[in-house]
Amino acid sequence: MSSQGKTYTMARVSDGTGRPNYLKQVDHRHSLSVSPTTSPIQLKRCLEDERRRRHSDFQSTLETSPTPTISLGLAHLAMPYRRWSDHRAPMTKSQSLGDAHGSYIIFKSGSPSGSTSRLPSSTAELEAMEIEDLEQNRDCAFSKFMKAHKCYDLIPTSSKLIVFDTTLNVKKAFFALVYNGVRAAPLWDSNKQDFVGMLTITDFISILQKYYKSPLVQMDELEEHKIETWREVLKDDYKPLVSIDPDSSLFDAIRTLIHNRVHRLPVIDYKTGNAIYVLTHKRILRFLYLYIADLPTPTFMSKTLEELDIGTYKDIATVNPDTPVIKALNIFVERKVSALPVVDSKGTVVNIYAKFDVINLAAEKTYNNLDITIEQALQHRTDYFEGVAKCLQTDTLSAIMEKIVKAEVHRLVIVDDKDKVLGVVSLSDILSYLVLSPAGELPPKFS
Ligand code: ADP
Ligand code: ADP
Ligand code: AMP
Repeated sequence: MSSQGKTYTMARVSDGTGRPNYLKQVDHRHSLSVSPTTSPIQLKRCLEDERRRRHSDFQSTLETSPTPTISLGLAHLAMPYRRWSDHRAPMTKSQSLGDAHGSYIIFKSGSPSGSTSRLPSSTAELEAMEIEDLEQNRDCAFSKFMKAHKCYDLIPTSSKLIVFDTTLNVKKAFFALVYNGVRAAPLWDSNKQDFVGMLTITDFISILQKYYKSPLVQMDELEEHKIETWREVLKDDYKPLVSIDPDSSLFDAIRTLIHNRVHRLPVIDYKTGNAIYVLTHKRILRFLYLYIADLPTPTFMSKTLEELDIGTYKDIATVNPDTPVIKALNIFVERKVSALPVVDSKGTVVNIYAKFDVINLAAEKTYNNLDITIEQALQHRTDYFEGVAKCLQTDTLSAIMEKIVKAEVHRLVIVDDKDKVLGVVSLSDILSYLVLSPAGELPPKFS
């Protein structure tokens, strides 16, 4: 397949019906093998396995890489990160990222000469930012760190990317997301020979919400629509593809995610036209967290959420355990929120229903009955659910960051001392505050 005049290699893979009709690109080491006989329980495990795999992704690099290096640049995934638990431990001289004068260097890109990097490193690229510069204005340290690193630095050495042709049937596409344990896929238009958008769980929610009538009426549109038909139905709401080049900075990636209010940012090599990876807020914050002990600490990290006014406190969209799923889907569509704290009659948080959880309706093939309650819809995860990840308004930003990274969730529910919901703090709120605001780039909500 040719894209922008360059060769673009894709393999056709089967969706389980025997007909090869969606497109899948790359990764071999982590491909999930799913056959037509795979049971719904195995499918659910695929999602869980993928979650665990992502969790161990950064950490396994830590264990396998013996040589410390002063570069925070592209040696990145081959360099020894310290684990969450090691982060507060004092660094030995050899572990330290400091140079002989005790100052630190953050390379804008590339890696020190002699080291192996997957990208060419040129002297021009090694624009060093000395720590003294950072120390002078420590509140800008995270912004500068993000400006000094490229999207490429975050791309794992091995990952999986699923690409859908827009002629694929939408139902099959959502099943393929489940089968492959991914949350989103770039959309390829064969006529235009270009990527034209993304398919995410929000799209699954929109289609269910639009066409669901009752458990007795089949949603013909879900059976019959191709992705392109569905995009035509929603054409007034569809954004043009928002993407980023691997050579762009992580700062630009954050800005792009937040200003466009999307959660999935495909990294597309503009030179070859190849899609490489899908970046998320979660991955970016985790990257910053891994290096946080090596950076000057901004003054705001020791302030509380309340002092900094981070998060949303008004009109929090919530549901009850007995709210029908269809009502929750309506709220997702109308309020454009990514998760709904589940509260009891006293307003106490008892659970959380995120957009991500809706894909379980596809995994279990139960999307034909959206009259079931949230409590029933969340039954599937009772075995491994560790409880709602929450925080207090009096928690410091530093504590919040640690909590959200370790919980591996997109948001914390802000509660009072009786667990009553006061608000929500999302990764988008946190990244805006940590990275965009110090650089004078306020997100749309604030500007
Ligand atoms: P998720 O459902 O995974 O939380 P989003 O909130 O980003 O994903 O998706 C919201 C809408 O925006 C969906 O219709 C999705 O197809 C679209 N979308 C997501 N990412 C992009 C992108 N990078 N470019 C264009 N549209 C996007
Ligand atoms: P994504 O990785 O697509 O952004 P989320 O983090 O929103 O996904 O959700 C992933 C899983 O974590 C879902 O099962 C969701 O219910 C759960 N989850 C999300 N937020 C919280 C939270 N604050 N506490 C506990 N579980 C959560
Ligand atoms: P997100 O889509 O989760 O990145 O969040 C985008 C914005 O919506 C952030 O400012 C959040 O604080 C806010 N937000 C997230 N969930 C809710 C909710 N359930 N109710 C109200 N606001 C929310």
